[in-house]
Amino acid sequence: MPVNNLLISWGYLLRGLILREMNSEENNIWEEACKQLKGVLSGDVYDRWIAVIKCQEISSSTMRLAVANDFYKDWLEENYFPMIRKAVMIVSGKELDISLEVDSVCFAEMKNEPEPEPHASISIPGLGFGHKKPTHNLNPNYTFDAYVVGPSNQFAHAAAMAASNSPSRTYNPLFLYGGVGLGKTHLMQAIGNHVASKKPRTKICYITCESFTNEYIEALQNNSVSAFRKKYRKIDMLLIDDIQFLDGKHRLQEEFFHTFNALFESHKQIVLTSDRTPSEMAGLAPRLISRFEWGLVTELGKPDVETRTAILRKKAELLNLSIDRELIDYLAERISSNIRSLEGALIRVASYISLTNQHVDIAKIDELLRDLLDKESQAIINVDIIQRTVAEHFDLRHSDILGKKRSRDIAWPRQIAMHLSRTMTPQSFPVIGEAFSRNHATILYAHDQVSEKAKADRVLQQTIAILKDKVTKNCAKAVQ
Ligand code: ADP
Ligand code: MG
Repeated sequence: MPVNNLLISWGYLLRGLILREMNSEENNIWEEACKQLKGVLSGDVYDRWIAVIKCQEISSSTMRLAVANDFYKDWLEENYFPMIRKAVMIVSGKELDISLEVDSVCFAEMKNEPEPEPHASISIPGLGFGHKKPTHNLNPNYTFDAYVVGPSNQFAHAAAMAASNSPSRTYNPLFLYGGVGLGKTHLMQAIGNHVASKKPRTKICYITCESFTNEYIEALQNNSVSAFRKKYRKIDMLLIDDIQFLDGKHRLQEEFFHTFNALFESHKQIVLTSDRTPSEMAGLAPRLISRFEWGLVTELGKPDVETRTAILRKKAELLNLSIDRELIDYLAERISSNIRSLEGALIRVASYISLTNQHVDIAKIDELLRDLLDKESQAIINVDIIQRTVAEHFDLRHSDILGKKRSRDIAWPRQIAMHLSRTMTPQSFPVIGEAFSRNHATILYAHDQVSEKAKADRVLQQTIAILKDKVTKNCAKAVQ
């Protein structure tokens, strides 16, 4: 989530807390909920799916929302209803019974009212969508200047620079993949921003794959698929974020395949991001996998502690936040799973300092960020480290834990490792099974055996406690 959105969300959260105490504000609940949603959804998705909802009635326990037709109702119920419910709950402080209805009469009347200005984020220059001011839809904060380069991203960064300096002549498509919050969207938009600053007339389109899908579905519904195609084939640079959304959606893949070919053949730069490599998308047509691999597929990894510190310093500087260096260092050390969480932590601490004017020390940070830090320790404990720690403790090799030998001095530690994997990570039995090259029933059996024995066996209880401690320490070491 961009920094601005984080600030907005945090702002709304505080506002939500204040609203909780002000029942007289009830009528504004829907408006406030919309602002919440605007803070967390992309502009395009918000305009397309939330701005079209009309609030018909609110009572102390119910809320009646309406949309123009069944299509909106079905899509909203399937995709955004839990989010809407949560936003309403945050601003109202209680769980309202929310209903969503179709009210075509009311919407037909509204059609006669003047059209609101379209949202800037869906405008594409020169594409004839009737927007007065040509503009691209990139976040201006996502630039190369604001991007910190370290060992985890230097290759992807160099490729992105190359693609922005000579679009379509170096890597086409450029495929950036990596885990959540590791900078894919930022880097992709930096390419667009760089090109836009050098050649302002370039028609750059940034779109999430989800919005692309929504637009396509709407085009199908309105019989305007040819306008949809025309729009995307006129672009000079297409940036599609989170392309893994295509996985398993065959009709959409077919459409995208033709758009891809048309742009590629006319030497237009295509940049894609994903949380996995093309070949890891099981539901992706082989011809798309091979096209995605034509250019360069490059990974954004997890940043090391130095890069995390540099990112936090840069963010604090860009956001004008005054926060002690040692606190920044502490945050960078403690939060390693993703940069978005790191940024969220920084903003939370900075907001606390500016709202309370109180001195913050490390103990206070631990208190303020307890939820984030808990998630962090869960995220870093993995089955591999558990296997290695158990092997070391019992003086075995890692391969013994994974192997097939059934002698008790190996089989028992192996079962303990299986039990710890189940209790110390959020992984399911089948996933743990894969990590041990066993089926899920074996893991389930081992977990039950060890749990049962530990009930009455003090020595085993101690061994498990020692092992848990060692695993936690080894995990902490692994992310340094
Ligand atoms: P992703 O798309 O991989 O989920 P984002 O691009 O949205 O991640 O990044 C999450 C946040 O982290 C953004 O605010 C982004 O600016 C920031 N960020 C990620 N990588 C870097 C980096 N190398 N330097 C500076 N900020 C970064
Ligand atoms: Mg992203």
